[in-house]
Amino acid sequence: AKEQGKARFKVFNQKMHEQALRIMELESELRRAVERREIQVYYQPIVDLARQRIHGFEALSRWIHPRHGFIPPSEFIPLAEDTGLIAPLGAEVLRTACTTLLAWHQLFMANGLTEEADLPRMSVNISGKQFLQPSLVGEIQAILAETGLDPQYLTLEITENVLMINAEGAGSMLAKLKRLGVCVSMDDFGTGYSSLSYLRQFPIDHIKIDRGFVSSCDEDAESFAIIKTVLSLGAALGMEVVAEGVETVGQLGLLVDKGCQYGQGYLFSRPLPPEEMKAFIMQHMTS
Ligand code: C2E
Ligand code: CA
Ligand code: CA
Ligand code: CA
Repeated sequence: AKEQGKARFKVFNQKMHEQALRIMELESELRRAVERREIQVYYQPIVDLARQRIHGFEALSRWIHPRHGFIPPSEFIPLAEDTGLIAPLGAEVLRTACTTLLAWHQLFMANGLTEEADLPRMSVNISGKQFLQPSLVGEIQAILAETGLDPQYLTLEITENVLMINAEGAGSMLAKLKRLGVCVSMDDFGTGYSSLSYLRQFPIDHIKIDRGFVSSCDEDAESFAIIKTVLSLGAALGMEVVAEGVETVGQLGLLVDKGCQYGQGYLFSRPLPPEEMKAFIMQHMTS
C-alpha cells in the first residue's frame, strides 16, 4: 500500500508539474499574442425581444493558439490579470469592438435605420483588476476619441464583486465613467455578493440576469421567481434588463411573458467572428 501511495504521489506531482509548465508557457505566449494582436474578438447579438431586432452586441475575446487550439476566456483572462497583461489586452478588445460597431452602424444606416435609437450598442467586459486601474478612464476616453464612437453606444459590463472589493474606488471610477457618457451594466447579476443596495448606491444603467437562472427558468420554480423579481426590480429602478444564455423557445416565452426587454443566447446566435456576425446582421436587417 505504501508503494502504491508513493506511485500515486508521483503521478500527482507530475501532473502539477505539467500544469505549472503549461501556465508558464501560456503566460509568455499570451504576452506575445497580445503584442501581435492575435486575440480575436467575437460578437454575440443582444436582441430586443418585443421588437424582434438587434439591440446591440457583446464583445467576447477568443484566443486561438497555434498549438493548444482554442483557449477559453475563463482561462486566459485570469492569466492576463495575474500578469499585468489585462490592460493592453482590454484596450485592444475595446478598440476593436468600437471600430467594428462603427462599421456596423454604417450597415444599419444604409438600410434606412438612421435614428440614434435604432443603432446598435456595444458591450465590453471589464474585469475586476482592470476596473480598479486608475488609468482605465483615460484609456477609454482615448479610444473613444481615436475611433470617433459616440460614448452613448458603449456599455461596460462589470460584476458586482468588483463593487464589493473596493466600494469607494469603484464609486469614484463609476462616476468618472458616467461623466464620459458611457453606460454601465451589472453582469452576472445574482451570482456574486449582492447587493440590492449597490443598484441604488452606484450609477448602474443595465442589469444582466445570469444565465444560470435563465437556463433553468423553465424547469425550476426558484430560478423563475428570481427572474421575475429582477425584472420588476429593473422596471422599478428604470434599468434595462438583459437575460443571458437564452437557449430555448420555452425560456424565451417565459421571459417575454414577464416583460423582459432584452435577451442574449444561443437561441439567437452564438458569439461569431466579425465577418459572420456581419452576415447575421444583413440577414436580420429589417427597416
Ligand atoms: P460573460 O461576460 O458572462 O459572457 C457570457 C458568456 O456566456 C460567454 O462565454 C458566452 O459565449 C456565453 N453564452 C452566451 N450565450 C449562451 C448560451 O445560450 N448558452 C451558454 N451555455 N453560454 C452562452 P465566453 O465567451 O466563454 O466568456 C466567458 C467569460 O469570460 C465572460 O462571461 C467574461 O466574464 C469573460 N470575458 C470574455 N471576453 C472578455 C474580455 O474581452 N474581457 C474581459 N475582461 N472578460 C472577458
Ligand atoms: Ca458579460
Ligand atoms: Ca454574464
Ligand atoms: Ca458569466
